[in-house]
Amino acid sequence: MHRVVENQRKQPDEEPMPKFREAWRRFGQAVDRYNVAKEAEDFQAVGNHLRECLLALARDHADAALVGKNEPTPKLGDFKGWSALLASSISDGRLRDYLKELTTSTWDFVQVLVHDRNSHRYDAEIALDATSHLLGVFGMAVIAHERGDPPRCPNCGSYQLASDWRKEEDLYYTVCGACGWEELDEESNSRPRPTEEQVEAYLSREVDGPCTFPPPNPWEGSAPRRRRRAAARRAARRRRTGRGGAGSA
Ligand SMILES: [Zn+2]
Repeated sequence: MHRVVENQRKQPDEEPMPKFREAWRRFGQAVDRYNVAKEAEDFQAVGNHLRECLLALARDHADAALVGKNEPTPKLGDFKGWSALLASSISDGRLRDYLKELTTSTWDFVQVLVHDRNSHRYDAEIALDATSHLLGVFGMAVIAHERGDPPRCPNCGSYQLASDWRKEEDLYYTVCGACGWEELDEESNSRPRPTEEQVEAYLSREVDGPCTFPPPNPWEGSAPRRRRRAAARRAARRRRTGRGGAGSA
């Protein structure tokens, strides 16, 4: 995500930042500071920005609901305390252990950068990498937690399940892209369909601001998107099996 070009770092891309926007904004300030840094105190200042970045992440999630019954509530500036609670609420097992270790080691490294009067460029560079890695990993862990385990094909265990809208039946099917298994998608079939006017308005809308991940979709499972995906799947199936796929688009 970040490249060093003659000691200059690029700002992180907008797209892979669906979570922790304030923390990422502060990370951008650290990058700006790094790009003009020359002396030890400049690199320490990068550390200060990174500390604020991490505290912004903790502040975002300093929610009493995370605190267990018999647990003490961390102070607002207690990055390790709040991050550990966040890690416990969004993950378990190895991922939770990893997140907790990551928060501890990253915070400690940034703190050393802040206080070490012999800090140099490589310390700041490593601290930037470590912090962006932490934000990226936590962001992905939150997304994974929100979405839950992805569904798998009951026939072959593949994750390549997709929805296939068949125009002549006006029905959605769930189709496995790996083995061709399919069944009626009752949930999608029970939803009201968007009108042609709504589809037209959606496809011709002005997109304002940066792309987000996942993209906003006012008609989850709407016909146009499914139609494109279904067409791609049918083409792949035809290539694999040498026969025509059902449906139309
Ligand atoms: Zn399958």
